[in-house]
Amino acid sequence: MASLIYKERLGFLSDHHKPELSRHFMTASTNAMPHQLAVLLGIEYSDAIAILAVLEAEGLCEMKLLIYHNCEPHVPAGAIPYGIGFPDLPWTCPHCESIVENYDELSFDLMAISKQSIEFI
Ligand SMILES: [Zn+2]
Repeated sequence: MASLIYKERLGFLSDHHKPELSRHFMTASTNAMPHQLAVLLGIEYSDAIAILAVLEAEGLCEMKLLIYHNCEPHVPAGAIPYGIGFPDLPWTCPHCESIVENYDELSFDLMAISKQSIEFI
C-alpha cells in the first residue's frame, strides 16, 4: 500500500513531476540523492532537498549523511544518520586508511532511503 504525498505539501511540483517521482519511489528501499532528483525532474538542488525533507518529516524515508574523503571524492566512505551532526574526529577513512583530523578533507551529501512505496498525487 503506497503512502500518498499531496501536491500541496510541495507546491513547486508540476503535473509532470508527480508521475516521475511516483515512478522513482515505486518500491521500498529506493535511494534518492538530491542531485539525482534535481536532474531527474529538472529542478533546483534546493527544491530536491525540500522534497526529501518532506518525505523524512512524514516518516516515509530515512535520511543519511554520506561521508566522502578526498582520496576518492566520488565514492562514499561512510554514512551516518542525518541530523546528529558530522562524524567524530579523528575519523579513519576505510578507502585509504588515513586518519582524518580535519573536516576540510571530507565532503558530505544526503541520501534518502524510502521505507515504503510513495505516490505523489
Ligand atoms: Zn581516504
